[in-house]
Amino acid sequence: MLVTVLNTTYTPLHDVSVRHAHTMLWRGVADVVEEGPGMFAGAPTPSVLLLRRYVPERFRYGRRPRRTATFDGPVKQNVGRFADRIAVYSKDALLVRDRGQCAYCGQFNGTTADHVLPKSRGGPTAWLNTVAACEEDNWIKGDRTPDEAGMPLLWQPFAPTAASLDRLRR
Ligand SMILES: [Zn+2]
Repeated sequence: MLVTVLNTTYTPLHDVSVRHAHTMLWRGVADVVEEGPGMFAGAPTPSVLLLRRYVPERFRYGRRPRRTATFDGPVKQNVGRFADRIAVYSKDALLVRDRGQCAYCGQFNGTTADHVLPKSRGGPTAWLNTVAACEEDNWIKGDRTPDEAGMPLLWQPFAPTAASLDRLRR
């Protein structure tokens, strides 16, 4: 299994091994953006890391970004990246994505993050495996999948862009 390393601009740089990813975390050069399924050395396996310091992309293998000499060139580039990049996952951000609506009963009382595939069974804490849920439905569903619990999801979880979350926060 490989871990994707994102630059500070959220551009994917390269993939590294899980062992290497843990070394990066231990050295404090990157943070976890998404956890993958499974454990490694007593900690959840990361699936995506975000570098703390910018790595010039000329060091990327392959495609080289075109540099412009004008002042607004790089700024415009960054705006484009921001609009397209996937938002960093957090419980608060999840509740914003789902506008506090419970994915099981549809009421706007979703205050908890429910793992579609339960965490205890290796489900990652990540955009595609979590939905906002009311406390009651989260408790009733417990350690089961929506199928097992007979609680179909009203919509499928998705990874929002940072820009779309910003619009919802306003
Ligand atoms: Zn509910």
